[in-house]
Amino acid sequence: MSSIALGCLKCGSSYEVIPPDGVYTEAHSKPNDPPGDFVEMKKECFSCKNKNTIYWYKPEAKQ
Ligand SMILES: [Zn+2]
Repeated sequence: MSSIALGCLKCGSSYEVIPPDGVYTEAHSKPNDPPGDFVEMKKECFSCKNKNTIYWYKPEAKQ
């Protein structure tokens, strides 16, 4: 499983996250509207300690 680079919402530092499984592989920084089916993950920024939330979606669920 390859990691995905995201930016911290607070300080902008990039960090890497690994998808929770092979199904939910698309990382969103905010939930969709309506939220739908997702897996939530918390990742603390190593620079500012902000706890970023990553919302993992199935790629085919996007619109
Ligand atoms: Zn940060």
